[in-house]
Amino acid sequence: MSYTDGMLKEGALKGKTIVVTGGGTGLGKSMGLYFLKLGANLVITSRKLDVLKETAKEMERETGGKVLAVACDVRDIEQVETMFDEADALFGKVDGVLNNAAGNFISPTERLSTNAFSTVIDIVLKGTANVTMVAGKRWIAAKQPGTFLNIVTTYAWTGSGYVVPSAAAKAGVLAMTRSLAVEWAKYKIRSNAIAPGPFPTEGAWSRLLPGDLVKKFDPAKKVPVGRVGEHQELANLAAYLMSDYSAYVNGEVVTIDGGEWLQGAGEFNNLEAIPQEMWDMLEASRGKKQ
Ligand code: NAP
Repeated sequence: MSYTDGMLKEGALKGKTIVVTGGGTGLGKSMGLYFLKLGANLVITSRKLDVLKETAKEMERETGGKVLAVACDVRDIEQVETMFDEADALFGKVDGVLNNAAGNFISPTERLSTNAFSTVIDIVLKGTANVTMVAGKRWIAAKQPGTFLNIVTTYAWTGSGYVVPSAAAKAGVLAMTRSLAVEWAKYKIRSNAIAPGPFPTEGAWSRLLPGDLVKKFDPAKKVPVGRVGEHQELANLAAYLMSDYSAYVNGEVVTIDGGEWLQGAGEFNNLEAIPQEMWDMLEASRGKKQ
C-alpha cells in the first residue's frame, strides 16, 4: 500500500455523472481521471476546447470510460447553462460538480489594476457561483440529490499577501460552501470543500512560482512532512467527498497540505531551527536553577 495508490472501492462512483470545471489540466484532470476509474461519467469544461478534447481522448483511452468535453467560460452564465444542457443530453443527469476552475497570479496588490482584481473575482468567486446556482436550481427543480465539492486554498482563512484577489475570492467560495451546506441540505444537496497545499501543476507553478522562484521558494521546504503533494492523494480525498461514502459529511473543508499552513501559524514552530545540543544546554541550565 502506498499513498500514490487509488483508495476507494472499484465502482464507488458508478452511475454518477460528475462535472469538473477546469478539468482539462492539472488537479482537475487528475481528480476527474480517478472519478472515471471509479466508474463515473465525466464532463470536463474550461475555455480551451482543444485542450479538453485531447484530455478527454487520453482519459477514455486509459479507462474505457465516457468523457464529454465542453468549452465553457464559468464567467458566462449562458455558456454554463449550455454546458449542463449538453451534459444532461448525453448522460441524462448530473450528480456532482467539482468547482475547480480558477485564475491567479502573484503581484504586490498596489501594482494591480482594479480590472485585474475583478478578473480573478469573476472567475473564482462569481464563476463558482454561476456553476453552483445553475446546477443547484436544476437539482432542486428535478427533486434530485446532488453533491458540490469546491477547491479552495488554506489562505481562504489565513489570507495571504501577493495573491489578495485570489484570497478574497476563495474566502467567498468557502463561505458559500458552508452556507449552502445548511440551506440546501433539505434538498439532499451536500456542499464540501478541499483546501490543498502545494501540489505541482504546470498552471500553478508557472503563475505562482515563475522562473527561478521555484528554486528560491521551494514549496516542499515549507511543509512539515517535507514534500509536496501527490495528485493521487488529492484524488482519493475528492473521490471520497464526491461519493456516497461521505453522505454524512456536509459543510466541511478538508485541508490536505502536509501541515503547511499550521507550520506558519504556530508561534514557536520556527524553534525547529534549534539544534539538539542547544536544547541540552537549555535543559541543563533549567535544571541548575531548580
Ligand atoms: P490549472 O491547471 O491552471 O487549473 C486551472 C483550470 O481552470 C484550467 O484548466 C483552466 O483552463 C481553468 N479556467 C481558468 N479560467 C477559467 C474560466 N474563466 N472558465 C473556465 N475554466 C477556467 O491549475 P491547478 O493547479 O490544477 O489548479 C486547480 C485548482 O486547485 C484551482 O482552484 C487552484 O486554486 C487550486 N489549488 C491548487 C494548488 C496547487 O498547488 N496546484 C494549491 C491550492 C489550490 P482554461 O485555461 O482552458 O480555461
